[in-house]
Amino acid sequence: MINYFKAPDVEQSARNIINVLNLSYIDPDRLAFYRSTGSKARRVQARIHGLGRIWFDALNMQPRYIIEVISEEFDKLDASEREKVIIHELMHIPAGFSGGFVPHRGKINKRTVDAMYKSYSEASPQSANA
Ligand SMILES: [Zn+2]
Repeated sequence: MINYFKAPDVEQSARNIINVLNLSYIDPDRLAFYRSTGSKARRVQARIHGLGRIWFDALNMQPRYIIEVISEEFDKLDASEREKVIIHELMHIPAGFSGGFVPHRGKINKRTVDAMYKSYSEASPQSANA
């Protein structure tokens, strides 16, 4: 059975990333962050959830996303690897914050995530201590 818990540590990290990388199209107040345990998924560290746009219309709601980290995989990563996972998931959010997803193909891979992470760590005031 999968259990879900709020993940304020992931939220804080995502908010830092959004600020530092100036991802102003992402409204952090319309993101929710969860940590799950008991997932059978192997080697999956995180995933992003959305709803079809028709749901947001029917619910009279602006689009929202949920970022879920898989405790068994995510929690064994060090801080920088965790940030890369969060960057990866944020990269799935399209510039219009429409509720849809940016697909992996050519856009989200180790190279593009590492490039974003490099910008983030160079611009992050916290990296001065690292
Ligand atoms: Zn992905």
